[in-house]
Amino acid sequence: MAVTVTSPGRVNLIGEHTDYNGGWVLPAALSVSLTATLMPREDRRISVSARGYSGTAERTIDDAAGGDWSDPAVGSIIEAINLGLLKGGADISVQSSIPAGSGLSSSAALVVTLLKAAREAAGSSLSDTEIAVAARRVENDYIGVPCGIMDQMAVAISKPGEAMALDTSSLEYRVVALPKTHDMVVIHSGKTRKLTDGRYAERKEECDAAKAAFGTNHLCLLDPEAVEAADIDETVRRRARHCATEHRRVHASIEALESGDTCQFGALMVASHASMRDDFEMSLPAIDALVEDAVEQGATGARLTGGGFGGCIVACVDRAKRSEWQEALLAKHPKARFVDAITPE
Ligand code: ADP
Ligand code: MG
Repeated sequence: MAVTVTSPGRVNLIGEHTDYNGGWVLPAALSVSLTATLMPREDRRISVSARGYSGTAERTIDDAAGGDWSDPAVGSIIEAINLGLLKGGADISVQSSIPAGSGLSSSAALVVTLLKAAREAAGSSLSDTEIAVAARRVENDYIGVPCGIMDQMAVAISKPGEAMALDTSSLEYRVVALPKTHDMVVIHSGKTRKLTDGRYAERKEECDAAKAAFGTNHLCLLDPEAVEAADIDETVRRRARHCATEHRRVHASIEALESGDTCQFGALMVASHASMRDDFEMSLPAIDALVEDAVEQGATGARLTGGGFGGCIVACVDRAKRSEWQEALLAKHPKARFVDAITPE
């Protein structure tokens, strides 16, 4: 029997690259989403067709990842077999409004959706958290992206219109209501990137070097003063400083949003962007300019969102001024485009 499941894309409001360094994150589900239909097969074949991707990919459950667009789908089916949810391959069709390679977790949405579909087909009682953990394994072990758990937890669990304060060490989370006065607007910079291109992995390796230098797995829990004082390589220091300060900004942001202090949240977004640009070196000049102009045109705050090196920014904007703000920003940045907005009610 065919099973159809939909998952949302997500925007990370703050807390970048903290999810594999023992820290907190604050993602929120979007209204852009991905829907997949999965039909289990008895044989070992996997066929994948997706709107926007040419042709039907014909693969098998024995295939290794080959840098193909169908890798996340194939990895999901192999993981579903390992979990006992499927016995053989599957026919898969996908349609999505989440722009791929843009920091909005299209890959996690696809993998989580297929694992949830396999769960339903098997009548299994695996929890959404277990699905998220399995989906991360697909990215880490099959596709080869050494990402943390944020994307999978957000798309598996978070609901549109609210944010998820997630401790990535314990996987405990709580819902954070967003102020009704402001919109969280997602603007695409016009630059896409592939997380498999190596720069994400390079940052992960630099964080591993920092972990070894400080003798901890939890860079985010380091005291920023201890990071300054340490006798270490300057690149390693900058990466560790980003993790330690970004983690604190997540906690401060949760407090600010819960008390309706969008001004303070905006200031934290701006500080987060500076840290991603200068300490983690994951931004691009075109994205820095977009963030700067977003604030100049009246956003309370703005920052790059997602893994970096391209993709989207998120801005916190007074709802009453939003349309004027958006028009002015997009007029100044013709390659940028509106993707989605969270407008809490
Ligand atoms: P993102 O930030 O969007 O998660 P990634 O590079 O991690 O970027 O993942 C993008 C990859 O996910 C695509 O190259 C493709 O393999 C897969 N993908 C995303 N959307 C779809 C879709 N609609 N249909 C099929 N595969 C998709
Ligand atoms: Mg991804």
